Amino acid sequence: MREMTTAAGDHAPAPGRRLGSMPPALSTLDDEGLRRLLGGLGEPAWRARQLGDAVWQPFAGSLSDVRQLPGGLRNRLEAHLRFITASEVSATRADGGRTLKLLCALADGQTVETVAMVTPARGSSRGRATVCVSTQVGCAVGCPFCATGMLGLRRSCSAAEVVDQVRLAGQALHRHGLGPVTHVVYMGMGEPLHAYDATLASVRILATGAAISPRRITVSTSGVVPAIERLAREGLPVTLAISLHAATDELRDRLVPLNRTQPLARLLAAADRYAAATGRRLSFEWCLIGGVNDSRGQARELARIARRLHAHVNVIPMNRIAGSPWGPPPPPVSRSFLRTLTEAGVAVTVRDTRGNDAEAACGQLRAALEPRRELRPDGTLSAPRRTRTGSLRPGEAAASASEAGARVTAGVPAQR
Ligand code: SF4
Repeated sequence: MREMTTAAGDHAPAPGRRLGSMPPALSTLDDEGLRRLLGGLGEPAWRARQLGDAVWQPFAGSLSDVRQLPGGLRNRLEAHLRFITASEVSATRADGGRTLKLLCALADGQTVETVAMVTPARGSSRGRATVCVSTQVGCAVGCPFCATGMLGLRRSCSAAEVVDQVRLAGQALHRHGLGPVTHVVYMGMGEPLHAYDATLASVRILATGAAISPRRITVSTSGVVPAIERLAREGLPVTLAISLHAATDELRDRLVPLNRTQPLARLLAAADRYAAATGRRLSFEWCLIGGVNDSRGQARELARIARRLHAHVNVIPMNRIAGSPWGPPPPPVSRSFLRTLTEAGVAVTVRDTRGNDAEAACGQLRAALEPRRELRPDGTLSAPRRTRTGSLRPGEAAASASEAGARVTAGVPAQR
């Protein structure tokens, strides 16, 4: 089922506007910052609480929705802060309405994808609403099976842009009678640990502002070893998801180019130290690609590593992406791969490919609109080749989103 709505956001910042010249983002202002801002406008300190409360109200899409503040003050504040740093360009529903895929425009006209997934309560387990955020526009790692990797890197997101994706998703869930947001996963476009400061700051803001415990936040990485070691020292018990995809250096060098400089032994040692420092169980992500990493040998080696590190394994069958000859293995091969893991005593989850029927997932929608990198026969990527010029402006993005919907036949989940 697909249902497209558009909400180009009246308060979207002008495309091309320089971020450095902009007023502060509301999501990044703490109580002290809010008091100082309002004090500078001659307002009493207690107004800071009213404004701060508005950040996480799911029905507050702009300053004009913050009715606790007088109209005159709302008007004056427009020039002194950015209420939200991302605007919803399009929203697509899928999976019987349980998945909402947002295309979000940033201040300079770049776009990122954000996905909200609702899991109903079942038995003794509570329902949850998980938001998957992007941390970069594109990605420099260049995994050849990933739609985002084919774009190359444009820039990293700011902490406010990451947090505001969660706010936008919360607003979209609220509109559909779903939510509130209970979990956040950093598994959208980009390598979160290449945007380390923004990732860390946004986790802290979510934990304090939205009361989403770090234990309900998962940061995924393709294996940036120094950043994993740094994260272990931050005292934040976020779950670390390692995008493994291959259990030998020979194969991983091809699938995750970062592995050529930060090979498996170093990565696994850092991951092990992270688990010891935080007490959090590791998880390994495995995008299962037919004829590439679906062999018994890879499954056995993955099982050996997962058992040694007491890690959970998430297997995500690959979805086809335009420009790549790769796809998921046939069902019997997938079953055999999973059986090898479970028979070895490894905890495995086959992650459902949420958003498939909505062209919804990591870089898929955006990939249809952006410079493309071709997959060479040796599994490496060519330099980005532009298929259309300029950044995507909010107005044109809505049209382009439906255009992309017609052109892309299979969504790809966060292939991390
Ligand atoms: S899989 Fe992740 S790390 Fe690799 S290119 Fe895609 S977004 Fe970047």
